[in-house]
Amino acid sequence: MKKRLIITVDGPAGSGKSTVSRILAERISYMYLDTGLLYRAIAYKAMQRGISIADDEALRELCDGINIPLETDGDMRVLVDGEDVSDNVRTEEIGMLASSISAVSAVRDALLPLQRSAGKHGGIVTEGRDMGTVVFPNADVKFFLDADVDERARRRYEQLVENGGNANLDEVKRGLETRDYRDTRRATAPLKPADDSVIIDTTGIDIEEVVRVVGDRIGAGR
Ligand code: C5P
Repeated sequence: MKKRLIITVDGPAGSGKSTVSRILAERISYMYLDTGLLYRAIAYKAMQRGISIADDEALRELCDGINIPLETDGDMRVLVDGEDVSDNVRTEEIGMLASSISAVSAVRDALLPLQRSAGKHGGIVTEGRDMGTVVFPNADVKFFLDADVDERARRRYEQLVENGGNANLDEVKRGLETRDYRDTRRATAPLKPADDSVIIDTTGIDIEEVVRVVGDRIGAGR
């Protein structure tokens, strides 16, 4: 039997990592773990309950209430205290709040065991900002996807419009730049490629082509 790998895909918002990770996981029948969804879920609940970003204890409690149901049909879902919040968290507002909350060490520490436990038997494609550096430093294959900010903004904008949202391209771009700045400069688990990651610049490259390159790399590693 082939070894079931841990495959990490890190990168900034709009780099194509979600689409690539989802397609890849489906093709090779691996679990897909979107860790941004966890930070977004905490941000959403904190906003709903009026919890301050400075309240470590209350944020930690929210993290304790997170649950990832395993029997989903490819798409990952996330529950907080029993409520499925997956469809409420994919807005720019929550993305921005998630980027503030994700800089809180208490939150990162609390979410670490949950992420590691999802990958403990391998057979997982996991995407985020610190998958290859902190959460799964011994992953079998690591990717870091990037693209220039204008292209990332355009992709993100199109995604928001497609989902029926009201979006403005300049605002989306400014939002991405703010998040990039915070995510790369925070003290705990900043966004950066792991030393042993394969870095792919997806600017101007079709997503299917990126999936092919990633798939070839994994094939070579198996
Ligand atoms: O990937 P996504 O845009 O859903 O992530 C939302 C925010 O969550 C990011 O801007 C980042 O601040 C945070 N995040 C993180 N570490 C991860 C995944 C997401 O800090 N592994």
